[in-house]
Amino acid sequence: MTCCSYGNGWMRVKDWGKTALTLYDKHELEGIRLFVDLEEIKKYPLIEQWLMRIGNINKEEVAKEIMRAGRDILSWQRVRVAPYERMKKARLALCSSCGEMHPATDGDICIRCSGKDNYYE
Ligand SMILES: [Zn+2]
Repeated sequence: MTCCSYGNGWMRVKDWGKTALTLYDKHELEGIRLFVDLEEIKKYPLIEQWLMRIGNINKEEVAKEIMRAGRDILSWQRVRVAPYERMKKARLALCSSCGEMHPATDGDICIRCSGKDNYYE
């Protein structure tokens, strides 16, 4: 819907462990932040238990309750995003170890082959 993606550099994920989404004008940096309203969520105990990771919850039942709740469980606030450097597309190179493409700025071998990140065992 927003044409924002990792590929074009207009989508960023800040993994703060929160349930929120910020949409803003990329030039003015003004926008809104949507978040789950914990007061409103109390009207929907199944959703609250799921969000707070309390007990063993049936996800299909939670999904139905979320659909019933709709926007009622969300709040929003106006925000201004701090200026930031947009991620630029890096030139790609072949990794001399695994042969897969990776950002050339990482050197001759990719992050995985270099052992700098151990995502896989
Ligand atoms: Zn590699």
